[in-house]
Amino acid sequence: MRTLSTLVVILIISGALFGFAPNAKEEQLQKFITTHVEKIKPMEKEANLASWNAAVSGKSEDYDKVSRLTLELRQVYSDPCNFAFLKETKESGQVKSALLARQLDVLYNDYLENQIEPQLLKQIVELGTEIEEKFNTFRGSIEGRKVTDNQIKEILKTETDSEKRKQAWLASKQVGAVVADDLIRLVKLRNQAARKLGFDNFHTLSLTTAEQDVKELDKTFNELYDLTNEPFAKLKADLDSILASKYGVTAAELMPWHYHDPFFQETPLVYELDLDAYYKDKDVKELAIKFYNSIGLSVDSILSSSDLYERQGKNPHAFSTDIDREGDVRILCNLKNNEAWMETILHELGHAVYDKYHGRHVPYILRQPAHIFTTEAIAMFFGRLSRNPAWMQEMLELTDEQRAEIEKVSDKYAQLKQLIFVRWAMVMYDFEKRLYANPDQDLNTLWWDMVEKYQLVKRPPDRNEPDWAAKIHFTLAPCYYHNYVLGELLASQLHHYIIHKVLKLESYENVSFVGQRKAGEFLTMEVFEPAAMYHWNDMIERATGEPLTPKYFVAQFVK
Ligand SMILES: [Zn+2]
Repeated sequence: MRTLSTLVVILIISGALFGFAPNAKEEQLQKFITTHVEKIKPMEKEANLASWNAAVSGKSEDYDKVSRLTLELRQVYSDPCNFAFLKETKESGQVKSALLARQLDVLYNDYLENQIEPQLLKQIVELGTEIEEKFNTFRGSIEGRKVTDNQIKEILKTETDSEKRKQAWLASKQVGAVVADDLIRLVKLRNQAARKLGFDNFHTLSLTTAEQDVKELDKTFNELYDLTNEPFAKLKADLDSILASKYGVTAAELMPWHYHDPFFQETPLVYELDLDAYYKDKDVKELAIKFYNSIGLSVDSILSSSDLYERQGKNPHAFSTDIDREGDVRILCNLKNNEAWMETILHELGHAVYDKYHGRHVPYILRQPAHIFTTEAIAMFFGRLSRNPAWMQEMLELTDEQRAEIEKVSDKYAQLKQLIFVRWAMVMYDFEKRLYANPDQDLNTLWWDMVEKYQLVKRPPDRNEPDWAAKIHFTLAPCYYHNYVLGELLASQLHHYIIHKVLKLESYENVSFVGQRKAGEFLTMEVFEPAAMYHWNDMIERATGEPLTPKYFVAQFVK
């Protein structure tokens, strides 16, 4: 395999020999980029460090610093003169150098999404914060008694009385009615901002700045819909009959509150499988180090600056962050020795090795993952291993009997988990697209049309409430949900390619990836090193021989 750096050297030499001298536009752009990077590089590092410190300390003054630095960075990207320069340069069509053109595309999008008029932006940010606060402080109630989200979840996981389940589910939806009007106002403000920038609506603007296309996405989602229709119906029928007998109702009587979470996005825990038992006497950190080392991806430098264990005030979740695009990559976790944290540390280290192994020769602006969903795909690819029976056997030194025990249910769970999630994500994607296209339509009905179509869950009779508004993502992370699905699709596409083309194995069965240095090499060369030098779909095509496709996800999880 040729290395990228040799390729770059060859290009530079041939450029010198054949006289690909940069034209005036290219020179201007290169100058702009140099000045821009000199300015933002220290700013981004400072902001990333501040954000890290805030997550680790939990101090409000640290969080204030993050907001201030984030705002300063946004101000750089909102400069209308610089945006005008980039727009003019792009439209001139004179930037021929692929590397410059790519940097121009990335910069242009970064500026474009920050061109919203300051007054309008202020309204959008303030209204968004207001809604978020309502989400944070609102408590639903059951028979006049306030309940927390965790209490609701607990009831939906364990309660067998249908009426009690119904009350808990209804309580989970009450926040919808509290925020719905504001959320519709927010959608309209976002649309107004997008129209001023020449887009149909905010959904189209968001996808465009993320280098995604509504038609392409629709195609992928439609294909996935067709391919999962029958298998999902079958798996769900099995699940329904188990749930129905558990609750003493017929399958036809099952209602949304009979599933184990408010939106039926997670797998109801109806098949016995306790993976935690296998991890409780192990050290998930050591397992992660051992595994990544075994495939030639060293995580020592990452872990030495990471923060891995619970502490008062510290962010209770997990993330990975690239501080400086120069190799200072860290993860934050709150490790416990169980399966969920095994998955999480493998997942976060997946993000981290992607960032760590970006080619150092790649220009700063492109020294980031090709797309937010491509780094998610790498994280998912590794995260999935914590439930993989072959991986577990090798890493945890299990007997064949123990492995067989896991295999009995792990496949079924993996399928259920993926299918339930993608069908739910279809609701989110399709509904949100229509929400921005026409926020004045009957959204309450639209929501249940989508739920019935994709999740095969019946709407409660005569219900006319804004149940959709209870999903916080419409407020906090608009037009983003589809990236989770694309991440899963790419994780499966890479999985397939690595098994068949890189490791040259016949089947999926028994593949643990432990010790497979070729897999690590392939990912480094074809995915991590090129960073964002290519459009995400070009990167995928270069790496796997075809653009992003749902077919390998279907092959892996739809049986
Ligand atoms: Zn992630």
